[in-house]
Amino acid sequence: MIRIGIGYDIHRLVEDRKLFIGGVEIPYIKGLLGYSDADVLIHAICDALLGAIAEGDIGELFPDTDPQYQGIASSELLKTVLGLVHKKGYKVANLDTTIIAEEPKLLPFKNKIRENLSKIMSVDKDCVGVKAKTNEGLGELGRKEGIACYAAVLIKKES
Ligand code: MG
Repeated sequence: MIRIGIGYDIHRLVEDRKLFIGGVEIPYIKGLLGYSDADVLIHAICDALLGAIAEGDIGELFPDTDPQYQGIASSELLKTVLGLVHKKGYKVANLDTTIIAEEPKLLPFKNKIRENLSKIMSVDKDCVGVKAKTNEGLGELGRKEGIACYAAVLIKKES
């Protein structure tokens, strides 16, 4: 049995915040605003996984009114979501993602992000896709007001 899930997330770029993407700290003049560490890529992956097991979304599971999630590393949220996936008897087969950021240039960090996700998710690095692109200067993302991510996952149950 295989199931597929998609996820999307967007966060606003603001001053005086660190920038985390895929659990990797990226040096930049701004960071993403959010209740947790605002790791937009990990949030999109969490939603893709939750979608694949039809268990709602990240906002339902980790409400931003709950102080235990304030400032939390999103990798911890991902581990919790993976626990739900495993509890249902599924393993992650592969994962593909797209990061949309006008700045900073993510090419130097893509490999590290893949390695980090592969480690957290216990998925072979060859099965973790990380793509980065700009929004060609168009709209909010093009004006560097935020960063958005898409994620797709395939999960598999051994029968
Ligand atoms: Mg988010």
